[in-house]
This record gives sequence, C-alpha cells and structure tokens, in this order.
Amino acid sequence: MLIAGAGMAGLVAAVRARELGLDPVVIEKGTRPGGSMLLSSCVVWRHLEWEDFRADCPGGDDAQQRLVWERLDDALAWLVSLGAEPVWEDTENPRTTGKRFDPRALTTLLAQGVDIRLEAPLPPRAEPPLVLATGGFGGRLARERGLILRANPWSAGDGLDWALSRGARLTAGMGEFYGRVMPARPARIREQDFVPLAQLYGREARVLTDDGRDITPPSVAWHENDLAQLVGRSAWFVVERTNDRIEAARAAGGTVVTRDDGSIAVHVSGSVTHTIGGILVDTSARVIGLDGVWAVGVDAGGIATGGYSSGLAQALVLGLAAAEDAAR
Ligand SMILES: Cc1cc2nc3c(=O)[nH]c(=O)nc-3n(C[C@H](O)[C@H](O)[C@H](O)COP(=O)(O)OP(=O)(O)OC[C@H]3O[C@@H](n4cnc5c(N)ncnc54)[C@H](O)[C@@H]3O)c2cc1C
Repeated sequence: MLIAGAGMAGLVAAVRARELGLDPVVIEKGTRPGGSMLLSSCVVWRHLEWEDFRADCPGGDDAQQRLVWERLDDALAWLVSLGAEPVWEDTENPRTTGKRFDPRALTTLLAQGVDIRLEAPLPPRAEPPLVLATGGFGGRLARERGLILRANPWSAGDGLDWALSRGARLTAGMGEFYGRVMPARPARIREQDFVPLAQLYGREARVLTDDGRDITPPSVAWHENDLAQLVGRSAWFVVERTNDRIEAARAAGGTVVTRDDGSIAVHVSGSVTHTIGGILVDTSARVIGLDGVWAVGVDAGGIATGGYSSGLAQALVLGLAAAEDAAR
C-alpha cells in the first residue's frame, strides 16, 4: 500500500497498517517527515461537548464529526501506548479536551521503522491501493489569495488533484481555511515564528481595512479563526495598549504604529495553515467513488466547515480509520 504524505495522517496510517500486518511505503514530497505537525503546537483535541462541536462547525458533516469526536480519546490512548509522552495531560481550554505532545518527539516516534522515501512526490500515474495524506491545498489557496502560508511548504493540493482527475467529489467549504492573523509583510516570519507571532488578541481589537473602514465584527469566535478569514490580504488591528504578541511583531520588523490618540495599530495579514474543504470521504476515510483509495487528515474535507476544529485530531482518527479499513 502506498501512502502519499508523511505528516500526522500519513504516519499514523503507516504505523497502524504495519501493526495490522500490511507493508506500507510512505512517499513524501518534502525533505523531512512530520508535515505541519512538526511546526505545530501539537495539541490534539476535540470539543468537550458534542453540541459545541456542532455549534462551532455548523457546516461540517455530522457523521464525520461524530467519528472524530467519538474516536479521539481511544486514538490518543493508542498514541500513548506507542510511547508518546504527553507534555499536557489535557488542554488548557475549558471548551476542549485532548493532549499536547512535543512535535519533534512525536514525529520521531511515528516515523520509526516506517519505510519513508523523502523528496518523492505522488506520481500522477499512481494506482490504488493508495492513501492520500498530502495535507490539503493550503499552499495553493494562500498563493491565490495573497495570504501568508503558515504551514509546511509542500501541501499544494496534489492529492486533491489526483483524486479529482479520477472522479472524486468535493465537500462543502472549499474556500475556507484554518489560519491565524499574522503581522503583515515586511515582518520576517520563519517557521519557528508561526506560533509566537500569531496576533491572538483580535477579540480586543478594532479591525480597520487599509483605507480606514471599520470592519470590526459584532463578535469573534474563541479561536479567532474567523478573523483570519476576515482580515484577508491585509488590515489593521487597533488596540488600546501593547502586548507580547505586538512586541514580537515589532521585533520581527512588522509595522506597528502609535496613533495620535495613543492607541496602537498593527498591520496584519491572514495566514493559511490548512484548508477545511477537501475530498469527500466516508467514515472509513474511503474516497467516495474511488475503489482502494483513502483520503486522510486535511486531504479529507468537510469536518470543520463553518468554524475550526483540531486538524491533528482529524489526521489521527482518519489515519487510523483508513489503515484499519485497508487491513480489512
Ligand atoms: C504553527 C502551527 C500550529 C498548529 N497547531 C495545531 C494544534 O495545536 N492543534 C491542531 O490540531 N492542529 C494544529 N496545527 C494544524 C496541524 O498541524 C495540521 O492540521 C495537521 O498537521 C494536518 O496533518 P496532515 O497529515 O493532514 O497534513 P500535513 O501535516 O500537512 O502533512 C502532509 C504531508 O504531505 C506532504 N505532501 C504534500 N504534497 C505531497 C505529494 N504530492 N506527494 C507526497 N507528499 C506530499 C507534505 O510535505 C506533508 O509532509 C498547527 C499547524 C501549524 C503550522
């Protein structure tokens, strides 16, 4: 079995497939395993209450959401049984539950013993059995919309294109993404700055367009993913006083201005971490309409539509589901 992509979803599928007696080969376009997991805060979480998941992601597919919500705790226990050591035993958010891991340690653990071929992109002529785990099309969406890419540099929609060319179907939410508001260029944003430079105080900010129009929304979601979509290519966050994240933006060369009334204006840009729409799959991660093909992680779409839920949880649960289905 071929698995395209060595992020969380592809590695989990590979480890589970090996446990079940299969002999998977993982082909990875990039120069290292780990995908965006390696750059992440690595909190693998679900909403504590099912109703909150539905309310936060109202456009998501009910059956897919239930799969992630119901299987995540067992999936986390499986990770721990492999030797993954949580650095937090639970999230620090009262709305969610899950575990946080060290992303390097988790990548090393999952990559151990797996046959991974680096700098080996999915060949257009690849044939089933095949697991698509290429991380969605964030790179493409960011380029098309002039947004910052806050993710691994290789996930540009290759799995999606492969599946579509063979008749796969799309989910809702193809224009939606999970991302953060970041300092706008000319701020220097390196991979290690993705977490500390996120401008996560938007609910206290007024949002102004570049020509000064006030577009502050009436309310902001707890995760502020909605602001990343609202800000788009560029806008200003205006707040009464500075904070650590603004000072980090200033230190990175971002544009931070003290206005005549003493308020602070930060020039910001939306960034894309991963896409929310994607390939339509069933609850075994099988691509609808294609025999012997699974799409896992954020290659599969339609789970967080209309909001935001854990991409790592989606990668973990769908990776397991695909391997188990393939073994059956
Ligand atoms: C800064 C940051 C913080 C984050 N924090 C969190 C968090 O705390 N909690 C959470 O749940 N999520 C978080 N995320 C999101 C999370 O990392 C992703 O949702 C998750 O890693 C997606 O996993 P994936 O395996 O589906 O895709 P990816 O991790 O994107 O892996 C896809 C892999 O496929 C490879 N690939 C691409 N194209 C091809 C091809 N043609 N052939 C072969 N290989 C290919 C890529 O190089 C990559 O290695 C964060 C992300 C970032 C960047």
